[in-house]
Amino acid sequence: MKRILSVVMTLSLAMGFTTGCAAVKRLNVGRTAASLLISDEQEEQLGRQVKQELEQKEKIKYLEDPVVVEYVRTVSSRILQQANRDRQGVKWKVNVIDDPKTVNAFATPGGYLYVYTGLLLAAENEAELAGVMGHEAGHVTGRHSAQAMMLQYGEQALIEAALGKSKGTVTQIAAGLAGNGVGLAFSRGNETEADDLGANYTSAVGYDPRGLVTFFQKLAAKEGKTSAVMKWLSTHPPSAERVQHLNGYIAENRLSGSDLGADRLAPIKQRLKK
Ligand code: ZN
Repeated sequence: MKRILSVVMTLSLAMGFTTGCAAVKRLNVGRTAASLLISDEQEEQLGRQVKQELEQKEKIKYLEDPVVVEYVRTVSSRILQQANRDRQGVKWKVNVIDDPKTVNAFATPGGYLYVYTGLLLAAENEAELAGVMGHEAGHVTGRHSAQAMMLQYGEQALIEAALGKSKGTVTQIAAGLAGNGVGLAFSRGNETEADDLGANYTSAVGYDPRGLVTFFQKLAAKEGKTSAVMKWLSTHPPSAERVQHLNGYIAENRLSGSDLGADRLAPIKQRLKK
């Protein structure tokens, strides 16, 4: 009990820091605290429970076109190999949800990544898709999903949910992710870290690391017009500050890569439009 208390205190202390120089340290502390409170195994179980709930209650439908699914998994797997350097042992599961009207993607504990066909259609090129997948993978490697759920629902509720003892919590989580509920609230620090990690992962395999930037800018331009379908934007506000930070991070760290892959995404979008 004492240990858990001190971990909770470390976590809340860590979340309280706002100075820039402590950023890296702060994130590491948060990650460690999250890993002490929720084990990899519990994360995996929780991810499985949420998946079941998404399928049964939220009635998500997976895309059946094997060509598109294979395409998304191939693009993702290159990114995820990079992500595994930051966090070993994650068994990634990439799912494509058949919903062309929703621009969304999210990650849950346990390495489950979900991307909507609406997001594929909204992307201009493969580097943008890779940027989003890299960002979501960053939430897993940074243990943000576990941290955010812990803060939102409480540690005990999560552990019980993972064990299948608390159906209510899992239902709430699933509704928040896929339905009209409140999505997972990541801290701004977590969002920034996921942006940075995503840029690293994409650049490392040759993609233009500005894919996420151009995707944000395009969504920002559309904001207001189609806000009902822009679910990703509600949890990922494409502020000028965000774009500026990401551009600065890419320049400072000399992240290179020029592959856009618009020609590879185009036929995939064509298939989705049929
Ligand atoms: Zn995010």
